[in-house]
Amino acid sequence: FSRMIKQTFAVIGLGRFGSSVCQTLINAGVEVLVIDKDEARINDFKDIATQAIIADAQDESTLKSIGIRNFDHVVIAIGEDIQASILVTLMVKELGVKYITAKAQNEYHARVLTKLGADKVVHPERDMGTRIGKNLLSRNMLDYLDLSSDIKVAEIKITKNSFVGASLSSLEFRKKYALNVIAIRHDKKIDISPAPSDALILGDSLLVVGYQKDVDYFNSLMD
Ligand code: ADP
Repeated sequence: FSRMIKQTFAVIGLGRFGSSVCQTLINAGVEVLVIDKDEARINDFKDIATQAIIADAQDESTLKSIGIRNFDHVVIAIGEDIQASILVTLMVKELGVKYITAKAQNEYHARVLTKLGADKVVHPERDMGTRIGKNLLSRNMLDYLDLSSDIKVAEIKITKNSFVGASLSSLEFRKKYALNVIAIRHDKKIDISPAPSDALILGDSLLVVGYQKDVDYFNSLMD
């Protein structure tokens, strides 16, 4: 954790996405430099960010003079202006920033950002829509998190009597479902080191980690 806390961040673009990222970083007490060409947006952050700069990030000399390459992580959160987003990503990459997260407006934009070397490309509306859609489709999948494109962590509610009273060991859970159970939620209590012999109760939910296909299979058993 201490390594994380010492990381320095720069956020370029303070729209809805950028300002929300920024606020979260500031709340966590890390150093954040913010850049926006709009003075009003900068004013909201000038007293809380480590440094707040009114500038057009497309101006390479500005990026150089603020020493953008010294930041561990740069978030490019320019929204509508796709050309600016692309150009800034290119320049930030060329200046040698170690880790870049860039926000995409659409699939084509995402592909370009990836090609330019953005380490993580986010597409907030689509990603959140997918997440909410999946939650709507499956009432038993309470929440999930992508660890990579094919590995995820999911919380799945036990709704089938065939599992009730059984334990993880009697179910041969890991062998049969190819999932690791990292926690069990019972009512409001979460057991983060579940014993293999604990009997499952109707309504418990399992926090599992595994390949997407295995998570989907286990989840389908609860439908
Ligand atoms: P969102 O969808 O996240 O709300 P917006 O497109 O509304 O995104 O906001 C993007 C932000 O990025 C705006 O505050 C805008 O002023 C800023 N921005 C856009 N282009 C540049 C640029 N070239 N340099 C600096 N800031 C920029």
